[in-house]
Amino acid sequence: MSYEEISRLADLIRSYLKQYGYDIDKAPYTANRILCIAPHPDDCEVGAGGLLAKASDRGAETYMLVLTDGSMGTSKPGISRDELALRRRREQEEAAKVLGVKKVYWLGYRDGFLPYTDEARLRIATIIRRVKPDLVLAPDPWMMYEAHPDHRRAGLLVSEASLYSGFPLYGPETGDPWSPQYIAYYYTSRPNVYVDITGYLEKKLEALKKHESQLEGLEPLLKLLVVYAEQAGKKIGVKYAEPLKILPRILVHAIPLAEII
Ligand SMILES: [Zn+2]
Repeated sequence: MSYEEISRLADLIRSYLKQYGYDIDKAPYTANRILCIAPHPDDCEVGAGGLLAKASDRGAETYMLVLTDGSMGTSKPGISRDELALRRRREQEEAAKVLGVKKVYWLGYRDGFLPYTDEARLRIATIIRRVKPDLVLAPDPWMMYEAHPDHRRAGLLVSEASLYSGFPLYGPETGDPWSPQYIAYYYTSRPNVYVDITGYLEKKLEALKKHESQLEGLEPLLKLLVVYAEQAGKKIGVKYAEPLKILPRILVHAIPLAEII
């Protein structure tokens, strides 16, 4: 298919989805409950900090779920894993407050060793059932050249848990079935929505700076993030934006259209 044909098909699918109540362009601005899932402390801020701050501001309930304890996130020898995990937990809680996040859930897996297991999937589904989000955020597990296994596994586990959590016979002891309407992937090489975060980039950066243990690596990243947000903004004619790949949950299984939209 030519680029024009793919583009026409994508528009057609989007308008078809709208007829069924799925509007991926509006979802970040209209979702009432948002759950951002991060492999490590600070990933939600980098990937969707602006969106979370803006959503909290308009009265949406925002939550975070951090899958690992962040205990590998240092280049300095001399600090123990336990010490680092404790520090990063405090930093994450403070950063979440800056963004207006109501609560941070933790699964506590060891940083660098997030298991790709049925147990991890069920634990994530349990939190999804508890929070009942309309929109779930996760790293895109299909991003080109993503080398960190925690990120790839987190993206896959969240996608699977978002699907399974809607089945009443899946782990019925963990709560009533609930499946989010949308999965929004941050850290994506195939964005299909640019979220206007003009007026909220400052909050995103302020939240990121709470991750003091990461600042050495964060300084160049912060500058890069501003350039990245500017570039994304140009796509929709605003000052700053966050790029996401948003998929209605019904497209993440057995329908080969997710790539196109
Ligand atoms: Zn990470």
